[in-house]
Amino acid sequence: MAWPAIIKYATVLLLLLLPPPCAADDRLVPGKPLSPGATIVSDGGSFALGFFSPTNSTPAKLYLGIWYNDIRRRTVVWVANRETPATNSSAGATFSSPPALSLTNSSNNLVLSDSDGRVLWTTDVTGAAPAAGNAAAVLLNTGNLVIRSPDGTALWQSFDHPADTFLPGMKIRIRYETRAGERLVSWKGPDDPSLGSFSFGVDPDTFLQVFLWNATRPIWRSGPWTGYFVAVKYRAITSVIVYLTIVNTQEEIYMTFSLSAGAAYTRHVLTHSGEFQLQTWNSSSSAWTFLWDWTRGAGECSRYSYCGPNGYCDYIELPATCKCLDGFEPASLEDWKGGRFSQGCRRKEALRCGDGFLALPGMKSPDKFVLVQNRTFQECAAECTRNCSCVAYAYANLSTSRTNGDVTRCLVWAGDLIDTEKIGNGDGTDTLYLRIAGFDAGTMRAKSNTLKTVLPAVLISVLLILAAIYLAWFKFKGKLSHWSRHKKLTLDDMSTSDELGERNLAQDFEFLSVRFEDIVTATRNFSEACKIGQGGFGKVYKAMLGGKEVAIKRLSKDSEQGTKEFSNEVILIAKLQHRNLVRLLGCSVEADEKILIYEYLANGSLDATLFDNSRKMLDWPTRFNIIKGVARGLLYLHQDSRLTIIHRDLKAANVLLDADMRPKIADFGMARIFNDNQKDANTHRVVGTYGYMAPEYAMEGVFSIKSDVYSFGVLLLEIVTGIKRSSVSSIIGSPNLIVYAWNMWKEGKTRDLADQSITDACLLDEVSLCSHVGLLCVQENPDDRPLMSSVVFTLENGSTTLPAPNNPGHYGQRSSDLEQIRDRTENSMNSLTLTNIEGR
Ligand code: ATP
Repeated sequence: MAWPAIIKYATVLLLLLLPPPCAADDRLVPGKPLSPGATIVSDGGSFALGFFSPTNSTPAKLYLGIWYNDIRRRTVVWVANRETPATNSSAGATFSSPPALSLTNSSNNLVLSDSDGRVLWTTDVTGAAPAAGNAAAVLLNTGNLVIRSPDGTALWQSFDHPADTFLPGMKIRIRYETRAGERLVSWKGPDDPSLGSFSFGVDPDTFLQVFLWNATRPIWRSGPWTGYFVAVKYRAITSVIVYLTIVNTQEEIYMTFSLSAGAAYTRHVLTHSGEFQLQTWNSSSSAWTFLWDWTRGAGECSRYSYCGPNGYCDYIELPATCKCLDGFEPASLEDWKGGRFSQGCRRKEALRCGDGFLALPGMKSPDKFVLVQNRTFQECAAECTRNCSCVAYAYANLSTSRTNGDVTRCLVWAGDLIDTEKIGNGDGTDTLYLRIAGFDAGTMRAKSNTLKTVLPAVLISVLLILAAIYLAWFKFKGKLSHWSRHKKLTLDDMSTSDELGERNLAQDFEFLSVRFEDIVTATRNFSEACKIGQGGFGKVYKAMLGGKEVAIKRLSKDSEQGTKEFSNEVILIAKLQHRNLVRLLGCSVEADEKILIYEYLANGSLDATLFDNSRKMLDWPTRFNIIKGVARGLLYLHQDSRLTIIHRDLKAANVLLDADMRPKIADFGMARIFNDNQKDANTHRVVGTYGYMAPEYAMEGVFSIKSDVYSFGVLLLEIVTGIKRSSVSSIIGSPNLIVYAWNMWKEGKTRDLADQSITDACLLDEVSLCSHVGLLCVQENPDDRPLMSSVVFTLENGSTTLPAPNNPGHYGQRSSDLEQIRDRTENSMNSLTLTNIEGR
């Protein structure tokens, strides 16, 4: 390379690296082109527009791009001339004709051209009415470059032409009429902004889902959206909450997102290797922190159609595996066993038109659906039933207070079912109604023939024998092995990806960590003025973090819980998301401090309102909603989350009320994770609160989901009556609330159980129903108690066919009971065991 050429090349590079030669403006106006080395900086200083040359580009190439202005690591979010960079001369060293960006006066277009006059890139503003004055290209502080006409109209904006980055406020959309929309397109390589093969955008066929494609081949699919207005799609981390929204208008449907106030820079990026990631800028480590990968999910299993036609990826099991949908079997058993699933599954038996539908809850619905509009659920079911080629349907009513027009979503399928997943109930999933050969929807049973009745009976007997052997073995192995297995389950089940183990846990934990010093500042050094409560584990403070009101629980320093137990608990809680569970937003572990950060609930704990004169605020509709909400939250813990969680300390103090008096269950510190196969367990440590604990748990230490059902029953009776479980003054003649309620039931006076503030006779039917359900929940025999799914169903739909309750289980009236319980518990205000032996 000749010396003059090297010097010229070095000069250009130096210009690119040096700060802009003059004070940067936030706009480009006609007659003042932008040249390499100069930048335009948004008003606010977040973004810069200028020329950049990716490292390692040989020969050197110049691109026009937008990047974060105030972070050291250059992170380009938009590139104009991805396929037409300015390159140096054939000698390979000089920019003999350096490019410049100008705004034309005549057409209001941005034009990037080299000094030979060659146009490298231009905007496509057409037919803009000539207006008096000059247009300007303004770089907004959102990272959006907008050409504005003199009257302020936006003629063109870079947000409508995304590169590989999806920024807050941007839209990824599709227009109904043209089926055209914006797609993110990956870079070709880490230092090569030219168009890569991966793209991300809205499905032009169904409009209701997003896809990641490799060229034209789909490699990942979101599944049909279950709502047009979805908030807080991601877990909160430090001070960032991401609100993802789907907006549907007459002309288009689009996805956009925003961040909580004060959040660090956060962006979605489609990487050159085809991952769609959410990243946030960590200023202390000066690096992008990876928060979420939309597409990786359960590894290979989450790849588009990985399990083949009529197969599905089962996320409930870890590691996630391919299975055949009900009524199907592997097309090639040999391939299937060898982990090759692409051939999928075939029907075991041909369908007939009269076959019924099996409900599969918690599914990501398959692809290739047809949307039938304006249907009720029954009409949707009828639509599929009467069409003999319809193999499945799913229904959602997406109405919210902000939606207008038709918001029903009846999806029907004919042919093979592609790219289905079983995720577990929760937001974003459907119940898929699958037509099954020989299935009689009326009786909800397969039609019988000899084989079909004998075979299950034999199978059940074999299973029972195996279960008996397993139980005997389990008892023999004793508690020690139980607890070691238990711990393993806790760690493994909490992992969200295919890569199980400490690395993921550590990542998850980092994801939630908040700096202790930020908490100290937010609580004004844990000042009494910020304190809002005190529980068995420590004090609770109200504070503002990341622009959001939060409740900060500072665990007592002498808490028994080790750092590892604590972090496991935090990760577990953070993964539980339901509108009736208090959300954990973050945590902090530094030195001997352990801190949990929860969403703040304006109306505090239910017991404070219920057992106070202010309970008059709690009219019956509010109480009934609280009962139903708690029931739903508990159902989620027991059945609908990916894990089976037993709360073990459900009580009025652990139900918090938000500003609209909606209930949320709090305090999962003592929750235990259960394997589906484990029905109940025995523990030497009884945790919970006296009076709410099921007798078998308090006396023998045996806990199961049915012990939570018992606590729910006690809570329900408290809400109905407004009487504390242990109150003596209000229930003269009965040792406790349960016996009182039981006596009233026997005397046919359930309506009289109602708190005196409930006077409306119409509502007394609901009161009776609730009292009845409450008494069913507190029955002595755990097997007699209903599952939370039945409780929720009954509360939501009413029932005329509830069984009569048997004797309730209660304890405590004999002093020997109490001694026995005390012997078994570790009664310490500061331990993570029994939190409150005396009633509040
Ligand atoms: P224990 O932990 O011993 O069972 P508890 O559940 O009452 O008792 P904490 O969970 O520590 O104790 O809560 C103490 C009080 O702090 C609550 O009664 C409530 O008034 C307040 N509090 C706790 N969490 C929140 C929250 N997320 N939002 C608003 N107030 C809260």
